Amino acid sequence: MLYAQLIADMLKKSKPVKLSKARSTGTHILLIDNRDGSLEEGGGAWQLLCMEHGGLVGWDLNANARSFMAEPETWCPVCQGGE
Ligand SMILES: [Zn+2]
Repeated sequence: MLYAQLIADMLKKSKPVKLSKARSTGTHILLIDNRDGSLEEGGGAWQLLCMEHGGLVGWDLNANARSFMAEPETWCPVCQGGE
């Protein structure tokens, strides 16, 4: 799988908080605590990672990140149906 190594590396240096499956896309979304800034890729204190596609996006507020966990089609490029 293309993103397996990328994701494995990310998980090694980050703090996973919660994993959930998005009903709309069927993909697994991981909430990551990035308040220490160890993950530079997406920016933001709280990051969401689409486990299937490697899509990554960050928010400053935990509440915002959590509210987008259920709708990766709004931030993961592949879930959006582009590629
Ligand atoms: Zn995705």
